[in-house]
Amino acid sequence: MDQFSVHGLSSFEEEQANMLQNWLTQGVNATRATLGIYPTPLSLHLYPRKSNQPVPWAFTRRDKKGSVHFYVDPRFGLTKFVNDWTIYHELAHMALPYLGPEYRWLSEGFASYMQYQIMVQSGILKGTLEHRYKSKIQPHLRWFNSDLTAASIATRLMDNKQYPAAYWGSAYFFVLADNKLQKQHQISLPQLINLYQDCCRTQDHNLEEVLASLDGIIEDNLFSQLMNEFKTAPARTLYPEVFGQ
Ligand SMILES: [Zn+2]
Repeated sequence: MDQFSVHGLSSFEEEQANMLQNWLTQGVNATRATLGIYPTPLSLHLYPRKSNQPVPWAFTRRDKKGSVHFYVDPRFGLTKFVNDWTIYHELAHMALPYLGPEYRWLSEGFASYMQYQIMVQSGILKGTLEHRYKSKIQPHLRWFNSDLTAASIATRLMDNKQYPAAYWGSAYFFVLADNKLQKQHQISLPQLINLYQDCCRTQDHNLEEVLASLDGIIEDNLFSQLMNEFKTAPARTLYPEVFGQ
């Protein structure tokens, strides 16, 4: 059961440390239930930070093993922590290898898409997934109503620090991928990522390898084809003006 290790609990009072340990356990279990058991144990680090929200800041460090770092305000109770999307987003990042600065937009799109998949599967999300994606993605579709490629638009939004537009605009890559998978291969994207942990996660080190592995599992070129479209086609041919149409 050393699926994850926790560091930094000694900075908190015992009762708070117990609550934080419970939160991390719940987060890891929820992520495992949706994306599978990661082949490398997670290294989770906690730091106290007074704030107006339970997890004001978090990030992943992508070195050899990888680790996730959370700044937390334990004055908020367990329920507030469990209902916060941050942990699901950060843990989702670890389902894929580090893709490099060039594909940060895709990495953030993936984690943003997956955070709600994890939350809905564990019963935390209020409302439907489709409504949630619509409300997050719709406001940013206008950036992609363009003859430029989706990859170049997402990269520029990221460079300009327009993070909600970059993250949620890029999450649309995974909306498209998940739809195609379900229609053409009777498998969902989370189910495919689950299989990916077992066969391929430890052997892949860049995006090309990830896309080849995912395509290998389904014996199709769905992912390399979609990425090719994101890099070469006008974004307006991939993105609708209204989400869901
Ligand atoms: Zn992220």
